[in-house]
Amino acid sequence: MTVFDTVLIADWSAATRKPVKESKDAIWLGVARAGLAVEQVYCRTRLEAEAWLDMFFASERSAGRKVLAGFDFPFGYPKGFARQLTGQDDPFAVWQWVSQRITDDEKGQNNRFAVASEINRAFPGAGPLWGKPSEDSWPEIPYRKSGIIYDLVAERRKTDLVAKAASSCFQLFFNPTVGSQLLMGVPTLERLRKRHQAAVWPFQDIDGAQLVFAEVWPGLIEGAVKQALANGAAEEIRDKVQVRLLSQALSGLDERAFSTLFDAPSSEAKEEAWIFGAGCGQLLDRQARLATTEADMTLAPPPLRNDCFALPAGVDWTPVDDALAHLRDRLHPVTAVETLPLSLALGRVLAEYVVARRSNPPQPNTAVDGYGFAGPAADGAQVLPLVAGRAAAGQTYDHAVPAGYAIRILTGAALPEGVDTVILEEDVTCDGAKIAFNGPLKQGANTRKAGEDAAEGDVILSKGRVVTPADLALASATGVSHLAVRKPLRVGVLSTGDELVEPGEAAAAGQIFDANRPMLLALLATMGFEPIDLGKAEDDREVLRGHLDAAAERVDVILTSGGASAGDEDHMSAILREHGAMEQWRIALKPGRPLALGMWQGTPVFGLPGNPVAAMVCTLIFARPAMGLMAGADWQVPQGFELPAAFSKRKKPGRREYLRARLRDGQVEVFKSEGSGRVSSLSWAEGLVELPDGAVDITPGTPVRFIPYASFGM
Ligand code: AMP
Ligand code: MG
Repeated sequence: MTVFDTVLIADWSAATRKPVKESKDAIWLGVARAGLAVEQVYCRTRLEAEAWLDMFFASERSAGRKVLAGFDFPFGYPKGFARQLTGQDDPFAVWQWVSQRITDDEKGQNNRFAVASEINRAFPGAGPLWGKPSEDSWPEIPYRKSGIIYDLVAERRKTDLVAKAASSCFQLFFNPTVGSQLLMGVPTLERLRKRHQAAVWPFQDIDGAQLVFAEVWPGLIEGAVKQALANGAAEEIRDKVQVRLLSQALSGLDERAFSTLFDAPSSEAKEEAWIFGAGCGQLLDRQARLATTEADMTLAPPPLRNDCFALPAGVDWTPVDDALAHLRDRLHPVTAVETLPLSLALGRVLAEYVVARRSNPPQPNTAVDGYGFAGPAADGAQVLPLVAGRAAAGQTYDHAVPAGYAIRILTGAALPEGVDTVILEEDVTCDGAKIAFNGPLKQGANTRKAGEDAAEGDVILSKGRVVTPADLALASATGVSHLAVRKPLRVGVLSTGDELVEPGEAAAAGQIFDANRPMLLALLATMGFEPIDLGKAEDDREVLRGHLDAAAERVDVILTSGGASAGDEDHMSAILREHGAMEQWRIALKPGRPLALGMWQGTPVFGLPGNPVAAMVCTLIFARPAMGLMAGADWQVPQGFELPAAFSKRKKPGRREYLRARLRDGQVEVFKSEGSGRVSSLSWAEGLVELPDGAVDITPGTPVRFIPYASFGM
């Protein structure tokens, strides 16, 4: 049993903005759960990292997970430092002191040497901070350590000595720049701990805390990191390997190991902080070496069971709804989770609930251009003197508006103190010094309440949802910068049949051009999956097996068309059957039966019929919702409309039918032929008509269910 559901490790950096391409000495964040690495996130700047961490802690909290977050820079200075700088022995006084002064921007440019100079001024003699880019800059910071006397405070903390860490938190420049990392890390921690109610170990009691911050030092698992780099991770960025192994190692610890590591160390730790695991380095290194053997494992969900397509025995023709219910029961997400900035999240499936980080609107504001005052206004003529100045969007009015006065206010402006009601400018006459208007006006008129759209902490988007442009607006408006989403489901498309040739090739007598593959690949793309062209295979079992073997390595799902029936030339169903994991799904459906569903080396295969109409209908009705579940989305039910038919048709009971249809003048037309080889009908249609399993007798005007193509994600 582990004590933390999630472990996050941050490899911090004091550097300026790093390139777009993953690189070293940037900030790396590693996430692990249950002893498995989930992801490593590359952050170009501290601002980016803080935004990510904000999002991450919020979503972990909403998922009810207990999190240990380790940061690889000192949380405190040696004993005596805090008192000299702030007059108190409290390490948080230092955090506050530093965070009030440090500035940092989206290029990573910061004022740490100016702040370090100010620290040094608080100490007698040279230092204690030292190290800078050039000898002639920052006179109050010594270039080298020699000459600094560490008597008022020691050069190293107790934990640095125990951990045998080579670095000192006073070194600002030349590697290791631990002193700079501290200055540039503590402000982030100070903000995050307050926003997310984190308990900081060992300064605070961690019992019952949902989120714990601890200082970590990857040096403790150096042996394991070297081993991983030697064993094939050589191409990888060292910082990335470090956060992966350390997060994985810590998340695999059991309760006993945790209580040993959290055991309050020396008395100095309450002020100086303590490296998590210092003095127990062997335990961590051993754990991390175990992790290296699974270095390539990320926490992708478990594969599907081999029998997931097995239908109940003895059923002859399975009704469509039963077949769908069966898929819905047996399938689950198979794609891994990653965290993306909003700009990359469109069309992805949300892997977690999204919680508003800030209310929208954040404060009460005005919905119109006009004049604000304390409402309500009584019936009859009103005259109010104006205060000087105005309130506009982004330009707050910082004083209170006295009772009986009004202020000029523009749309979107935060209501100043003393204002809760706004009169429209069109309803007012104004001479520059006062306004006149006719009451009555209700208190709160023309204003928007704080949080009336979304309140901080509200779930704004649900898990399993496909991110839309409007969702991006909502996330951004409520202060969410990143979303935990699923990687796209990779779907391979293979055409089978000796008769098939590629468009553009010469076609001999008896040959036809492949219509299914371009259609299926395009369908997948519009549905938000990642289509992968697997080409075509001739009707030869050996060849087909080779294709499926190769495909199973590359993709999450395989769609094949052709050869899915039970005839002599139906090799797809034959080899799936030989393989032991094939189910011939005889579905009571027209067009489309039969469907061969099977597992090929752990990868699900949808063996679609070869006829293009049947291939498309089966994809829309069965493959799409099934693939949606595997991609992490909710079960999708296509929305349809009851509309009058413009056609006549008599249908016997027994199977559900889909007709190619389109809407004209509010009526549903169907294609002139029901032939399942009619590719032109698919192109002619703009949707499908769904006729129920039972018998129907349709005449013009009878309501029928029309499902537009768009309802299938096309
Ligand atoms: P099958 O399911 O293999 O028996 O094929 C049924 C019908 O669909 C046959 O007429 C095939 O020639 C045709 N067909 C199979 N695959 C394709 C394809 N990729 N494009 C167009 N027609 C196809
Ligand atoms: Mg065939």
